[in-house]
Amino acid sequence: MASFTLHGIPVSRGIAIGRAHLLTPAALDVKHYLVPEEQVEAEVKRLQDAIAEVHRNLQELWTDLPKDAPTELGAFIDVHALILSDPMISEAPLDIIRSRHYNAEWALVTQIDELSSQFDEIEDPYLRERKHDIQQVAERVLKVLMGTALSVPPVLAGDEGYAPQMVVVAHDISPADMLAFRDRSFIGFVTDVGGQNSHTAIVARSLDIPASVGMSQASRLIEQDDWVIVDGDAGVVICNPSPLVMEQYRARQLALVKARKRLLKLKKTPAVTKDGTAIKLMANIELPDDCPHALDAGATGIGLFRSEFLFMGRGAHALRVPDEEEQFEQYKRAVVAMKGRPVTIRTLDVGADKPLDPTEHTALNPALGLRAIRYCLAEPQLFLTQLRAILRASAFGKVRILFPMLAHAFEIDQTLNILEQAKAQLREQNVKFDEQVEVGAMIEIPAAALALPMFVRRMDFLSIGTNDLIQYTLAIDRVDYEVAHLYDPLHPAVLQLIGMTIAAGQKAGIDVAVCGEMAGDIKLTRLLLGMGLREFSMHPAQLLSVKQEILNADLAQIAPRMRRIMRSMEPAEILEAVEQLQLN
Ligand code: PEP
Ligand code: MG
Repeated sequence: MASFTLHGIPVSRGIAIGRAHLLTPAALDVKHYLVPEEQVEAEVKRLQDAIAEVHRNLQELWTDLPKDAPTELGAFIDVHALILSDPMISEAPLDIIRSRHYNAEWALVTQIDELSSQFDEIEDPYLRERKHDIQQVAERVLKVLMGTALSVPPVLAGDEGYAPQMVVVAHDISPADMLAFRDRSFIGFVTDVGGQNSHTAIVARSLDIPASVGMSQASRLIEQDDWVIVDGDAGVVICNPSPLVMEQYRARQLALVKARKRLLKLKKTPAVTKDGTAIKLMANIELPDDCPHALDAGATGIGLFRSEFLFMGRGAHALRVPDEEEQFEQYKRAVVAMKGRPVTIRTLDVGADKPLDPTEHTALNPALGLRAIRYCLAEPQLFLTQLRAILRASAFGKVRILFPMLAHAFEIDQTLNILEQAKAQLREQNVKFDEQVEVGAMIEIPAAALALPMFVRRMDFLSIGTNDLIQYTLAIDRVDYEVAHLYDPLHPAVLQLIGMTIAAGQKAGIDVAVCGEMAGDIKLTRLLLGMGLREFSMHPAQLLSVKQEILNADLAQIAPRMRRIMRSMEPAEILEAVEQLQLN
């Protein structure tokens, strides 16, 4: 097998070595998990039963056909029954369950994808069109299967003696799908599209799984079960590597594991610079289940809980958003899990690459459209429900509420009004909440960073969302790999906006954090410290490396060098000066 290397965008660090598992969009719609050896035959039976049930359904359809029904209708049912009896449908997926341990739905979709691609190559248009019949039959079986699915799919993480170490290769993966990979036995991700700070990339980082995106043709060039190395530090994927290359990467992998073990020793060490300045290191989470990781990494609180992940990836219930009770339970879980440490809950930030309904794509420029706070203000009932749920959770520990994408004074005022309404409703119902709950704004639109007095007057704290701030300052879509090379955190305009925000917070005496991906980038830790940042929020996986940087940083040495950086309008000069900061 020929070896080749693909270059893309590194988004999640580390090295993964495993077999490629190609995921088509159809395969992404069904649950996929690995079945333990002892449950394989039960899973085979689940699929056989589903097929038998569809057979029975078709038979009933036949018998119930009205006498005057058009003859094509009967013929149509016959064709479906014939397809269902074909070994390609009734047997091949069973083999996939036995040989690869896929769950029934996944095995069926894998086989249908394979058949569909064979049909695409058929010249005869009539025969080619039969592909849709096959897909319809598969859908009937899937529907039955979904009804018999286990509520909690069994997970194989290597402890069952069967750990195939698979690397997912797909054209694209949505953030919600990526989150569904948590707890599955995938060790790396490769996608054709995507940018450094797309939410898919962010979730991959939070899962702490090596990933490279923007690989352009990866899903076409890499074949099922090829050996692949994902170098998540360099954004490189090596397909079918030679034994020598494999050996080198295995050695690097081992060194990384050792380095991580060493870092763990810092868990309880306070994050204080060499000259004695204490720094708050907080964690970004997607779901309450991430809290234990945050605590394991020694986080002093949650700086960003992306609450929209509770609303996304709900499959058939995409439009059924969680109600107040469900949200309250989830927020409370996070608050209780953090044992008195602050939990900053960001209100619903849907839209752009985090659509509430992924089937609906209407906006021409979704990143500039009705997303985040704009969406919430347009749906006040939904917003009010969320705010009530968050406020109720504030009775169980320290909660801070963070609002995304504010730019206008009237938006801030409307937002605070709705919050007041939520509080008034709770008071009236005698429901407890923290009357002193702090509110903050994300500074992630350049207009906000240029109009800070508007914010500091109304807010208790600020949190800089550098991911969007960079996107909007440089006018590049953070999801689009074709402009990914223009995504530059060190652009002088970006640095000015960040610097101004930190300074405005200091002057007003309110906390300013950075919760965008810049906070977790160790190459930028000293720069941000030098700019006056004292609160960083990042994925738990990055926290200890950043702490190490802080422990080695001396603010007295950094301070005199900051003038040059903040005054420079020359990217090369800035880059060189930032690299210099790293040297001692
Ligand atoms: C940001 O924009 O920097 C941020 C933290 O929010 P998100 O990445 O979820 O848009
Ligand atoms: Mg943002």
